[in-house]
Amino acid sequence: MNPTAEPGATTGGGAHREPTAELLGPVLAIGADTLARSFASRSTKIDGMRRRLPIFVVLLLVADGATAIDRVTFATEAGEQTVEGRVLAADATGGRLVESSDGALTVVTGEEVRGVESDDAPFAPLGADAFAEAMLAELPEGFQVYQTAHYVVCYNTSREYAQWTSSLLERLHKAFTAYWQRAGFELHEPEFPLAVIVYSNADQYAQESRDELGSATGAVVGHYSLATNRVRMYDLTGADQFRRNTGARVSRRDISRLLASPAAEPLVATIIHEATHQIAFNCGLQQRYADIPLWLLEGMAVYFETPDLSAGRGWRGIGKVNQRRLAIFRQNLRTWSPARIAAIVASDKPLRETRTANDAYSDAWALNYYLIQRQPKQYVEYVRMMSERKPLRSAPEDQRISDFTDHFGDLAPLSRELAELMQRL
Ligand SMILES: [Zn+2]
Repeated sequence: MNPTAEPGATTGGGAHREPTAELLGPVLAIGADTLARSFASRSTKIDGMRRRLPIFVVLLLVADGATAIDRVTFATEAGEQTVEGRVLAADATGGRLVESSDGALTVVTGEEVRGVESDDAPFAPLGADAFAEAMLAELPEGFQVYQTAHYVVCYNTSREYAQWTSSLLERLHKAFTAYWQRAGFELHEPEFPLAVIVYSNADQYAQESRDELGSATGAVVGHYSLATNRVRMYDLTGADQFRRNTGARVSRRDISRLLASPAAEPLVATIIHEATHQIAFNCGLQQRYADIPLWLLEGMAVYFETPDLSAGRGWRGIGKVNQRRLAIFRQNLRTWSPARIAAIVASDKPLRETRTANDAYSDAWALNYYLIQRQPKQYVEYVRMMSERKPLRSAPEDQRISDFTDHFGDLAPLSRELAELMQRL
């Protein structure tokens, strides 16, 4: 996604702080794109972007695939609320990260907890039908459901657009999992249906996403929320520049043709980018709220974002040179130095800050592209290591460089080779 909107300011995230819980920005302040603004808080007003969540410093062991269901009652500004689900992480103060049966995550700090009841009934994700019903119940009147093998699409635009979207995303899912399988990394099927909400127009999308997008509202065409695990977007053919006959329903062929135009390319790329995050977080490549360097998280999504709108069997977009990012990278070549790569490896800051985000996203794309081309085995091993990182645990900042160099070697020669590769592409 184009990191044009502000990721800059650091918002407090509210008064609910456990004194023992270290507050850590980088872990949850994911990115200059909409992911950064997707930490929808339950009770805390966020000014759009990063809500700093507590890190559970003393992490208690939570069994994998925990079976019991916990019902956690907690205090919010609006009164007490209860969340029910399996506990993915817990800390010594009683704080919990709860995953609900629809895949939503709720962080409750020890200070906020008012009561916990446990139930022996095994945790089970909602099936697709119940999942769809639950989504519809949360949406305004007028939404319908379109289901495919992996996706539950709720829409209030044309059925044709919902079909077009789900078919695009199913092909992305297939291509993405096949890609990693070929690379020797077996992904698993998503545990929860992949939820997508398609609004009929930009205004409605903006209105309904304001809490998650904050001040980025109006600046983006789609986003993935780590908290809800859902992708929201709007019908791009409804945008004025693509609409031929106001109010007319478009056929699937029209949709394909309209969105294959060069003007639509970056918009469709954003949808693919956000959907890539969703697949990666649901199929075992990454865990939500885990401390994964942004250069990897975002650079990888950018690597995959090139859309392939052909209705053919395969997906040819993956790994194609991302011309938009390459153009930015090349613009920077005159003043370029290997320190730029070191900077995104050492810290998430360049990708998070408005002033540097656009350039840093291109650097992150270039770094992922280079590593996939030149050190594919090491890249997969690095991705595998990151896939094992658990939610709400911070990795030491100073470990980022050694994690990197242990896998890929020294930064300086690598950065120079990377720049040479980018000049030749
Ligand atoms: Zn992203």
